[in-house]
Amino acid sequence: MMDKYRVHEVAKDLNVPSKEVADLLTQNTDSPKKHMTALTEEELDIVFDHYTKQKEVRSFETYFKLGEKARPQQAAAPKGEEKPAGEGRPAQQGQRPQGQRPQGNSQQPRGGQQRPQGDRGPRPQGGSQPRQQQGRPAPRPAAPARPAPDPSKRTDDGTGVRHVDMRASHVDLDKYNERYEQIAPTNLVAQKDTGVKKQKINQRSAQRGKPVLSRKQKEEEKLRRLELERQRRQKLEITIPDEITVGDLALRLKVTAAEIVKRLMGVGVMASVSQVIDYDTAALVAMEIGAKVEKEVVVTIEDRLFVEEEDSEENLQPRCPIVVVMGHVDHGKTSLLDAIRNTNVTSGEAGGITQHIGAYQVQVNGEPITFLDTPGHAAFTSMRARGAQVTDIAVLVVAADDGIMPQTVEAINHAKAAEVPIIVAINKIDKPTANPDKVKQELTEYGLVPEEWGGDVICVPLSAKTGEGVNNLLENIQLVAEVQELRANPDRLAKGAVIEAKLDKGRGPVATILVQNGTLHTGDIVIAGTSLGKVRVMLNDKGQRVQSAGPSTPVEITGLAEVPSAGDIFNAVEDERLAKELVEKRRTEAKEEVFKAYQKVTLDNLFSQISEGEMKELPIIVKADVQGSVEAVKQSLEKLSNDEVRVRVIHGAVGAVSESDVMLATASGAIIIGFNVRPDPVARDNAERDGVEIRLYRIIYDAIEDVQSALKGMLAPKYRDVDLGRAEVRQVYKISNVGTVAGCYVVEGKITRSANIRVVRDGIIIADDKLSSLKRFKDDAKEVARGFECGMTLEKYSDIKEGDVFEAYIVEEYRD
Ligand code: GDP
Repeated sequence: MMDKYRVHEVAKDLNVPSKEVADLLTQNTDSPKKHMTALTEEELDIVFDHYTKQKEVRSFETYFKLGEKARPQQAAAPKGEEKPAGEGRPAQQGQRPQGQRPQGNSQQPRGGQQRPQGDRGPRPQGGSQPRQQQGRPAPRPAAPARPAPDPSKRTDDGTGVRHVDMRASHVDLDKYNERYEQIAPTNLVAQKDTGVKKQKINQRSAQRGKPVLSRKQKEEEKLRRLELERQRRQKLEITIPDEITVGDLALRLKVTAAEIVKRLMGVGVMASVSQVIDYDTAALVAMEIGAKVEKEVVVTIEDRLFVEEEDSEENLQPRCPIVVVMGHVDHGKTSLLDAIRNTNVTSGEAGGITQHIGAYQVQVNGEPITFLDTPGHAAFTSMRARGAQVTDIAVLVVAADDGIMPQTVEAINHAKAAEVPIIVAINKIDKPTANPDKVKQELTEYGLVPEEWGGDVICVPLSAKTGEGVNNLLENIQLVAEVQELRANPDRLAKGAVIEAKLDKGRGPVATILVQNGTLHTGDIVIAGTSLGKVRVMLNDKGQRVQSAGPSTPVEITGLAEVPSAGDIFNAVEDERLAKELVEKRRTEAKEEVFKAYQKVTLDNLFSQISEGEMKELPIIVKADVQGSVEAVKQSLEKLSNDEVRVRVIHGAVGAVSESDVMLATASGAIIIGFNVRPDPVARDNAERDGVEIRLYRIIYDAIEDVQSALKGMLAPKYRDVDLGRAEVRQVYKISNVGTVAGCYVVEGKITRSANIRVVRDGIIIADDKLSSLKRFKDDAKEVARGFECGMTLEKYSDIKEGDVFEAYIVEEYRD
């Protein structure tokens, strides 16, 4: 390339008019030079010499003062760059030439050795003398300039000469490395180029054949660069939020994500660019890089709107307990709630009309107790699923003549999941068949050991019918509440949960709310979920108008703009404008939530959630056709717990996967595993809506294997059943030679001839078979769609009964 170095190029590089260069050469050589004339080494030397003299730096004192800090860098890097500080880019290019020039005269400098590769071919002419000697000494005035930047180096070598040489190298590099020119054309201005240039030079130096020296230089350069980098970063002040992705941190630190990842590894954290790391880890890395770190405080609308500071000791006053009544259907929940309410009415204002507002208060020995008037755990769990932890105590009603039933177990598990203390009301003791001891015995099987048997669970035998024992229950509730030391601060803006809400024709949206902390007043601005409004009228549980409601008090309010959902948290606020903003934000979040549902825990995403540190516990709900399976699965699954994740079966029961299972799963972030059972349609729809994973198995081992592989992140691609449709068996015909024909009506999807059929009776799979014939009237049909009748026979199973459900499905291979 050097032979192609033409006048106009030289001029451009020197930042002078090409005519000037041409003239200079014409004057100094015997042949006239033009714009396009290619120059020889000698001619180049003349030009460089000339300009070097011209651009000579007068005072190096000043020059170095200017770049005292930067100097090392210069040394390390191509001289050009540092200078720029003072002279600007163009100068840089010019300088280089200057540098070159020096050697120029004695171009030989480049010594053949350096060039070994030969690309410099032309250069080689010179001897192979080491660069240093290359006579830098004599060189133009510029020479001295160069040297300066490398003081340290020089010291090392003990020769002042050497730097000159280096400069020479730069010149070479920049001028004659075509590739380089391409990569970093004339404007080496950009900072990035700096790096490139340095690199080049390093390579060059290595090539130069002065390995020892070059390595040293390299090393020094590297150190200097690092030091500079450190200094630069030291000035870097960044803020880091509670959590930050690796990529984002890299951006803030102005380094590559790869560097962050590397440093994270250094501190034992394996994280990818998109992964989120916590503040401490991020701060550690940032400080290591040399940045000043401050914690980013994110002030949300909620922060500004709600008074969230802890109540101080002196502000806290005792509040009454909030109690929920749960238990199996028909065990007497409603009767008990009525009995309690009536006890109170008679002892209180006679004839007082109690109005159903979803909760009521009774006075026991002058102290109130608040009961949620919605029996059953559905309301309780749905509330918990929405984030409202409302109740302090759960009363578990068990009929003494019936004992523990499936919903009793559910109720126990719901209460346990919510960590609410349980008091057992052994009901119906008035019945002759009542056997309270049997109930107690059964309770122990579920981890509830009665007090009288050495446990900590209070069991109160009572009769909701006769009222016997009801007061005893109430007193025990107070006892448990006392231990809990329930307290709240009545002197603050109210906060609580929505118990019930409806749209009343005359009054508009009506909501029963339970104040949990603070005091609600009429006229207060209230925000509940996405509903906002001013409390217009406030009624207590007796239907009386009240002006204020303190902690643990249920009241019905009107004035909200829309009907909130049961379980929504409500807050009284001061700033209506901000509250409006929050409502908007919540609306948007609600929409996002729909998408997020897909990100709930599933066996497929379990591993990634574990590795992201989001999962510490995998709650599982097990439903099976027989109790033995429930127990077996429960034990096997829990054994899969490892150091990172604890597998916990929070509920196990016999029967179809129910709506309440899905609710519990939603509230607890659990997945549901079913054996030989199906979800009922409502449960299935809800699970789909809420993004709850229901995994159905026929073999326990498969389930265990799946959970195990999911824990290890190795859930193998599998076969899965793809449901096609469902048909109800409306009639069963036994036909000789043909067998049992099921006269069916397709209620969902379609049935195809090639489908497999699961025979489901009362939510339990009793057979799994292949279809052997599918007919519409007398004709064979390929498929029968929803809303049509058809006749089906199965290959093996013939014990079909009216009311059975045929689920048609095909087996499909899939990969995640
Ligand atoms: P829930 O479904 O749990 O709310 O149960 P209910 O309160 O509706 O009661 C179911 C049935 O049990 C009703 O017929 C009640 O009359 C009856 N029952 C409730 N408590 C008692 C009791 O203490 N003794 C007797 N003998 N029957 C009761």
